Amino acid sequence: MRIGVYPGTFDPITRGHTDIVARSLQLFDRLIVAVAPNPRKEPLLPINDRVELAQIATKNFAHVEVEAFNGLLVEYVHSRGAHGIIRGLRALSDFEHEFQMALLNRKIAGQLETVFLMPSEEYSYLTSSIVKELAMFGGPLEDFVCPEVAQRLRQWYDGSKS
Ligand code: ADP
Repeated sequence: MRIGVYPGTFDPITRGHTDIVARSLQLFDRLIVAVAPNPRKEPLLPINDRVELAQIATKNFAHVEVEAFNGLLVEYVHSRGAHGIIRGLRALSDFEHEFQMALLNRKIAGQLETVFLMPSEEYSYLTSSIVKELAMFGGPLEDFVCPEVAQRLRQWYDGSKS
């Protein structure tokens, strides 16, 4: 049983993320979507909401679970008995940071490999930040996130206006 861990902030989970989930399941038997608190990025949504939305967005995939994690990623990966880390690569701009993290994790964890997957072209420009910006200005969201995420973001911004 090969287990992969797909870590991220998922603020919120987008169709680009779920595209990577689908691709990961061709390589791993089970996938854990691991949601990081990531206060450095000042996420919009509380971690419990990000976990819940990631659960909803991945509910049609068998063998996927979602949970929050804290602390060092490599320790979390070992604690879950997982075999590899999955990250998505969009444009060149992702590369430098991802390269650094993958080599650092391998250095501190020995054998641990990071697998990079490219999304479908239609999602290669999609970021959680763009989705939040669209939501803030009442733009269309359904092509970019699942309906439940779209609804939650609209509620969030409507609530913050009133
Ligand atoms: P982080 O803060 O760790 O970068 P994100 O939630 O922004 O967390 O992203 C998690 C992972 O998913 C990262 O590897 C990121 O490159 C990847 N990712 C995000 N959006 C997309 C997308 N549209 N297509 C492919 N990969 C993506």
